[in-house]
Amino acid sequence: MKISEIYEQKNKRNQTVISLEIFPPKTLNGEKTIFDTVTNLTKKPDYISVTYRDVTGDKTREIASKIKQTTGVEVLHHLTCVQKSQGDIDEILNQIKEANIQNILALHGDYPKNQENYSTSDEYPLAKHLISDIKKRACFSVGAAAYPEGHVDSNSISENIDHLRQKYEAGTDFFISQLFFDNDKFYRLNEAAKTARIACPLAAGIMPIMSAANIERLIFFGASIPTNLIKIINKYKESPEDLRKAGLEYAFKQVDDLIAHGVDGVHLYTMNRPSVANEAMERYL
Ligand code: FAD
Repeated sequence: MKISEIYEQKNKRNQTVISLEIFPPKTLNGEKTIFDTVTNLTKKPDYISVTYRDVTGDKTREIASKIKQTTGVEVLHHLTCVQKSQGDIDEILNQIKEANIQNILALHGDYPKNQENYSTSDEYPLAKHLISDIKKRACFSVGAAAYPEGHVDSNSISENIDHLRQKYEAGTDFFISQLFFDNDKFYRLNEAAKTARIACPLAAGIMPIMSAANIERLIFFGASIPTNLIKIINKYKESPEDLRKAGLEYAFKQVDDLIAHGVDGVHLYTMNRPSVANEAMERYL
């Protein structure tokens, strides 16, 4: 099923679409954990997205396809274009279609770090070029990335919205936001998108803080950390289990508030953790 239809059906009934994000694990044990978790969920998410890296591209397809086949849960295949030619993308899209996957999150991808003389794509300088290319194939529903606090390279709020509008006009069916810890930032983006006549669903990306090691990565994503969350982190930083509990509680408070505000979707960055997936599904579905 196309994810655009899932948003349409649930939003018509004033329900929030609840989705999970996972990444291809490095080990077979990690893969087993994912399949055991998804199979054993008593309440299933509306869809599961699987992240993409050039080095793990085939794994993204294999894991997404297996989840769909074995559990019936709909899947979203992330795809980046930063270093790809049109020929590469054609081949990957054919493989995704053959694997019976109908949904793609079309992304630019980050420029490679610590790699001299890399060449970026002439055909896909931005995600919007990938979006319009995928949309030429009627078999796919296409999602794209949105940034409640602006992309780290964005200079202003108006540039941020202009960028979003260009992706919408290229054919985006739904957006998923970068993670954030202050819901007001998301509500502001939602309002600005409506004013700019961006008329497709926008899902809120939420990541529970599970350990002190998480925090440096979050700053890399451009997410600001509100004072009340800094206090929680400082209070529990010497006690991993208490920090995990407090981080999850903070994230669930954010989700409760988002649902109460009637957002189109909540996308949980569960970081392959079965306990988070289970607790979230029990609470929200
Ligand atoms: P584009 O929208 O095309 O942006 C490309 C370039 O345009 C940026 O590098 C920047 O220079 C500029 N730009 C971007 N946004 C703005 C803005 N708002 N205002 C002004 N200029 C802007 N990366 C992966 O490698 N694999 C994944 O699986 C993956 N999944 C993601 C899922 C989500 C929900 C999100 C939010 C991001 C994900 N990313 C992933 C990260 C993403 O690839 C990077 O953030 C990347 O830098 C920009 O990708 P884009 O698709 O937003 O590209």
